[in-house]
Amino acid sequence: MFNKILVSNRGEIACRIITACRELKIPCVAVYSEADRGSLHVAMADEARCIGPAPNRDSYLNIPAIIQTALMTECDAIHPGYGNLSEDPSFAEICETYKIKFIGPPAHVVEAMGNKAAARRAMREHGVPIVPGTEDGIANVSHARTVARDLGYPVYIKAAAGGGGRGIRLVQNEEDLGEALAIAQAEAKSAFGNPAVYMERQIPEPRHVEVQILADSHGNVVHLGERECSIQFRLQKLLEESPSPGVKRSSLRRRLGDAAVRAAKAVGYQNAGTVEFLLDNRGQFYFIEMNTRVQVEHPVTEMITGVDIVREQIRIAAGEELSCEQGHIYFQGHAIECRILAADGLNNFLPSPGRIDEFVVPSGPGVRVDTGVCSGSVVPSHYDPMIAKVICWNHDRVSAIARMEAALRSMRIGGIKTTVDFHLELLRNAYFRRGEIDTSFIRRRMNGEGRRYGEEGT
Ligand code: ADP
Ligand code: ADP
Ligand code: MG
Repeated sequence: MFNKILVSNRGEIACRIITACRELKIPCVAVYSEADRGSLHVAMADEARCIGPAPNRDSYLNIPAIIQTALMTECDAIHPGYGNLSEDPSFAEICETYKIKFIGPPAHVVEAMGNKAAARRAMREHGVPIVPGTEDGIANVSHARTVARDLGYPVYIKAAAGGGGRGIRLVQNEEDLGEALAIAQAEAKSAFGNPAVYMERQIPEPRHVEVQILADSHGNVVHLGERECSIQFRLQKLLEESPSPGVKRSSLRRRLGDAAVRAAKAVGYQNAGTVEFLLDNRGQFYFIEMNTRVQVEHPVTEMITGVDIVREQIRIAAGEELSCEQGHIYFQGHAIECRILAADGLNNFLPSPGRIDEFVVPSGPGVRVDTGVCSGSVVPSHYDPMIAKVICWNHDRVSAIARMEAALRSMRIGGIKTTVDFHLELLRNAYFRRGEIDTSFIRRRMNGEGRRYGEEGT
């Protein structure tokens, strides 16, 4: 096992990883930016080092500072969390060079899946269904025109290196294509350092259904069932659940699981990963991408399987075998996660950074809160606005919703605006309660009545 782990992230995921390390009795080192000096993850870790000024590029993306800290504090592994450096193949490679174990897949796998267009090719070649579209970059406007005519409008132009719901542009018709392509390429270049884009047909009113997988270095691959993540605003997930109310038949669940395991095996995957699919209203599913890291919504899977995904990540990276085999993974009950953002949930999710003067979290049977803040914390404006995740488990979906409503009603967050009231309204929505959801849900079912959920791009 590792001697010491450096956690190269912040917020709730850094705290989540530190908790897993503690249980495994591995000391850990937190890194922090100047804006995060007083953060919870710094207080929780055994040691902490400042790695630079507030902007991400100067701190949490500062590879030399992070590697140097790992060497100086004698860490033999780095957990990157999600976002930040978690899907940067050069970071994984530099870790390998310095003989520091990157807790994630091998660098070449991060790289292969990081190009979303190339990943589509690999998947199709291994019999995993993909959304109709290109597997190479779009060369120029006339190429784009030919492809789009073939696919039929509307189409999505997507950054090959994109992620986090960014770098995706919906094109309704040929007239808009030229301009959209130019903007998409420029955005891809500035946001991801790579102008390459590819094209996909729009799947109408799809559900986002993804499958969690675990793969060790001994060739064992298992899946931990699916998560439904259709409740999105501007392509960003806000509420996730497992199992998916859209996966009504066990045969579909089995096919999704098989496809995800096949995808993982196809690329020689190791560690925890997520295979994302769109599910259409006829029950067909299509691969969209693979996330080669721990996912924000991993707790809902933990709640229904009892598997500690972060612990498995660390064990796998240390060369151990998976602690569970497929035949011994059971899915029990239903779990829901609400992402609590420091943002105005009733007005376009406008960011609301500032000092949290009161923070009281719910508790009770089947209630879990993952957070990176406490009373008195300051939410900086530099980072992702997510401050907590409330996860509720119960025997079925209806009772899990009831438990979540009670939990959110007892939550008290003062000093900043949050998405708690948005979630309470969502949980009351009759369509949501019936499980009739797709990725256009917020725009179609929650607009109006004084709330503003403007342009979504879907
Ligand atoms: P999940 O798929 O786990 O729900 P999200 O898509 O919400 O994750 O992303 C998790 C975090 O990582 C967010 O802070 C998001 O902004 C960030 N993120 C994900 N992918 C990228 C990327 N390619 N570039 C920059 N940030 C990213
Ligand atoms: P990211 O890498 O930013 O997470 P994804 O490719 O996973 O991007 O897509 C993010 C979201 O965009 C999906 O969850 C879905 O809501 C929407 N989306 C992506 N591709 C399509 C498509 N071809 N048809 C319909 N919706 C799509
Ligand atoms: Mg995605």
